[in-house]
Amino acid sequence: DLWESTGAVTFDDVEFGYTADRPILPSFDLVIPAGQTIALVGSTGAGKSTLAKLISRFYDPTAGRVTLDGIDLRDLHPKDLRRAIVMVTQEAYLFSGTVADNIAIGKPEASRDEIIAAARAVGADEFIRGLPNGYETDVNKRGGRVSAGQRQLISFARAFLANPTVLILDEATASLDIPSERLVQDALQTLLADRTAVIIAHRLSTVSIADRVLVMEQGRIVEDGTPEEL
Ligand code: ATP
Ligand code: MG
Repeated sequence: DLWESTGAVTFDDVEFGYTADRPILPSFDLVIPAGQTIALVGSTGAGKSTLAKLISRFYDPTAGRVTLDGIDLRDLHPKDLRRAIVMVTQEAYLFSGTVADNIAIGKPEASRDEIIAAARAVGADEFIRGLPNGYETDVNKRGGRVSAGQRQLISFARAFLANPTVLILDEATASLDIPSERLVQDALQTLLADRTAVIIAHRLSTVSIADRVLVMEQGRIVEDGTPEEL
């Protein structure tokens, strides 16, 4: 049977540094209840991406532990971990291949109907159908003929199809045109429903849809509240 997580994440007294002489997270505690949407903000170098990478197990803590449903990430089967936690990076990388391949990268067995349903859910179906070869259009790593906003939507469709219990999103800083901005924002709402999410947020509109905002400075949480409180 497949293990199903609920998506509760904790940092228990986590220490982490890229090098031994310079701790980035000195002693970090955080409880993220299942289903909560967190917007993570703070100045450059504060440790936001580092936090995201610890949840997605790009790195392991040097002390303490990060848990999913109370289980140390190091004790989870890599397959379960990859299924449960998905990170969407700032660059929204595309791979050389078709749009359909790009959406299905985390679920190669997905049918065409599932791929289209995922694209529809995040509002990407319309522009994809407008591409020269629709879902069969080749894109290169940089996106080729798709815009930054469209690239985001493709990566959202990919995440929607993968359907993780925990979604980590490093929001793009690149400015989008107004129609894309609105599409991406709507897509985000759909993507966030019924899962835990940690978004490194650069847009006020994203912060406002979060349940909880964490302000990070120098590896510590300096403010923790609702968007209305902060
Ligand atoms: P930004 O808003 O600019 O993306 P951030 O809050 O995401 O910043 P991090 O990328 O987590 O910040 O970086 C935190 C600290 O860790 C910074 O001082 C950074 O220089 C350092 N750092 C990040 N990645 C590495 C790495 N791979 N090797 C060494 N140091 C790193
Ligand atoms: Mg960062």
